[in-house]
Order: sequence, then C-alpha cells, then structure tokens
Amino acid sequence: PAEIISKLNSSKSQRKELQNLQEISKIERNKCEKRQKQTTKDSYTSIKKPQNNPYKHLDAMVSEYRAKLTFNPIAIDDIVEDHLITVCVRKRPLNKLEKSKNEVDIISVPRKNTLIVHEPKTKVDLTKYIENHSFKFDYAFDDKCDNAMVYKYTAQPLVKTIFEGGFATCFAYGQTGSGKTYTMSGDVMGKDVGIYGLAISDVFKLINSAKYRHLNLSVSCSFFEIYSGKVLDLLNSKSNLKILEDGKQQVQVVGLKEKCVTNTAEVLALINKGEILRTSGQTSANANSSRSHAVFQIYIRKNGSTHGKLSLIDLAGNERGADTFSSDRLTRLEGGEINKSLLALKECIRALGRKGAHLPFRVSKLTQVLRDSFVGNNSRTCMIAMVSPSVCSSENTLNTLRYADRVKELGTNDNTND
Ligand code: ADP
Ligand code: MG
Repeated sequence: PAEIISKLNSSKSQRKELQNLQEISKIERNKCEKRQKQTTKDSYTSIKKPQNNPYKHLDAMVSEYRAKLTFNPIAIDDIVEDHLITVCVRKRPLNKLEKSKNEVDIISVPRKNTLIVHEPKTKVDLTKYIENHSFKFDYAFDDKCDNAMVYKYTAQPLVKTIFEGGFATCFAYGQTGSGKTYTMSGDVMGKDVGIYGLAISDVFKLINSAKYRHLNLSVSCSFFEIYSGKVLDLLNSKSNLKILEDGKQQVQVVGLKEKCVTNTAEVLALINKGEILRTSGQTSANANSSRSHAVFQIYIRKNGSTHGKLSLIDLAGNERGADTFSSDRLTRLEGGEINKSLLALKECIRALGRKGAHLPFRVSKLTQVLRDSFVGNNSRTCMIAMVSPSVCSSENTLNTLRYADRVKELGTNDNTND
C-alpha cells in the first residue's frame, strides 16, 4: 500500500484522483448507512408483505398440525403449585417486523404445561416437513398472557418465601429480543407492569399486613449489572465494584449501594434510572445491555439483619454461538464469559434440588454474587425461559428450551408440599 500511495502521490492529477476516491467512498458509506436506517424505519412503520411468500408451505403445515390440537391454556384461577425449583416458558407474540416478512409462528402452547416447536426440516429428496418437539415445564405461557399472569405463577410465590425468612431468585433466560426485559421491567408504555414492579408492590402490601406488621421489617433495594466480568452499580453511576469472599465463603459485593425504600413508585423510579444508565451510550443490537446480567435485589430486614432476600435477574442473551467466530477479540471473550456463567447457573440451580451437591459458584461472577441464595435452608428459585415465536429463531428457541429442560431434570423430588 505504501508503494501505491507514493505512486498516487507522484503527480498532481493522481493526488486529485485519490481525493476523489476518498470522497466517493465517503458518499457511498453515507448512502449505505442512510439506506440501512431507512429499512429499519420502514419495516416498523409500514406492513409491506413480500410478493413471494417463502413461508407459505411451512405456514400451511403448521396450521394443519394446529387444527388437530385442542387448546386448554393456563388461566388466572389455576392452582399455584408449590415447588423448590419452578421452570416455565413464555412465548411472546410475533412483532410487526416479523409479520411484515410473513415469518411463521412455529410455537404452539396447547396446555398449561406443554409447548410444541414445529421445526421446519428438509428430507434428502428435498421434501419439506415439520418435526414437532414437545416440551413439558411447570407452566407454559402463550402470547396472550400478560405479565400479571406470568407473575402469579413465578415470582409471587417467592415473595411469600422471603417473608418466611428465605432467599429466592427468579431468572429471565433467553435470546436477545425474546422478552426478558419486557417480563422483568414491563413494557415501555407502563401498561403491562413487569415482575419488578409487581413483586415490590406485593412486598409493601405484606409488610403492612396484619400477619407481618408486628415484625417491624424494613425494605431496601440494590440494582447492579454484571458486564464483561465487572460488577457495575446501577444505583451509583455504574461504579465498578469488587467481590470479596471471607473465610466462611460468604460473598460480599463491596460498596454496593442499598437504598431504603418505602413505596412502589419510589422503587420504580429507581429501576427506571438504573435501566437508563444500563443502556446509555449503546447503539447496536449487540449493545452491552444484551450482553450483561441485570440483578435487582429486594432485602427485607429486621433491626438491620437480613430476614429475606429476593433477587430478580434479567440475564444476558444466550445466543452466543456466533460469538465464537467473531473477529473481535472482546466479543469472543465476552461470549465465552456469558456461556460460562449460564452453564454455572444451571448447575447451581440443579444443586439446589439435590442436597449436598457440589455448587460451582466460583466459576462466574453471577453465581458468586448469588451464592447465598443457593445454599440456604429455605432457598427457592424460578427460571422463566423466554422464546421468540418466529421460524427465524427456531435454533435459538430449541437451545433455550433444552437448557430449561435440563434445569428441571430433577424427577419429582422437588415438591415441598409434603
Ligand atoms: P430481551 O430483553 O429478551 O432482549 P425485550 O424484552 O426487549 O427482549 O423484547 C423485545 C421486543 O419484543 C420489545 O419491543 C418488547 O416490547 C416486545 N415484547 C416482548 N415480549 C412481549 C410480550 N409478551 N408482548 C408484547 N410485546 C413483547
Ligand atoms: Mg433486554
């Protein structure tokens, strides 16, 4: 290149040519960026269906299969079962963009605990068919369920646990865009309040109830994210916090801000501020909010000592397969870190169901900071696996469901009723 440049620089006309080239490439770059922006804008504003629908056949096959199913979905007055570990799945609706591209919804939720993925396949002779994978969980929520419905069967029983002196965790797991933040924080318009808000408002209700009022409990919150191996305080301008472990394996996040709170509105404002901080300065779909775990914790304390703790976690997107091939070293490393933490998390949850099992909490920052929630006598956990309905997400969806399936591979011993 040095040679070329020196040649180009050799005469005035050539220098001019180089300038022109630079100018042209700049214009092209701008055009390309503009076009990209326009496409995204268009796809959200107008629903233009493509002329040739590449999914017509798949759509027909799924519809035919669905027509034979009987649907009996979960209802708001169904029984809330008592589990040490609850694993469930939530399917979000197809969005405008997916609909505009005729993408097929390949997920059916026929019963309150069953979800079916209609995976498109091609035989060696090129005939197309669908393979139907059925999964069983404690609960399966279809795209008609709102956050209040999901909350009732997932985090609400955990609020009861912390009042009884326990430690509880609730995780939103799934690929980026599957609805984790929608479920935890609620929709942006505030019409469908999320699990954070629903949980905290129940906490205040119980604090003031006849059953618990005499205990004089106080409520406080913390909110932080784990990004690229760092713990960043979302209630304190993203200050970088250290994790320390003492001789008794007690883990402490040093300097983590814990705010005393007295009402729901106050907490929602705190979360809002934290969320803004979390996503500030981000531009792309690969932004760090999809690559970080957000941990919101509610403590109830009696004279300063912990009575119970609820951790609500919006996990990093699990679609990390592609990162292994990324040319960007940081992306590869982060991808590896996220994979490691999600695998460790699965093992820690499984260990909860098998008393005395090895707890690999030191493997990742996430499991380290949650250690106390996995070891207590009265510890409970809930995993909500989120899935996108579109055929274009089928690979990630199957990965998510298989992961969730393994979390719950516990036989029937997790029922604490008896
Ligand atoms: P994630 O946090 O998993 O990356 P989001 O929660 O940001 O995904 O959801 C992606 C998009 O889908 C958002 O625009 C969100 O509003 C929408 N969405 C997710 N879940 C639902 C739902 N249950 N109902 C309606 N829209 C949803
Ligand atoms: Mg999110």
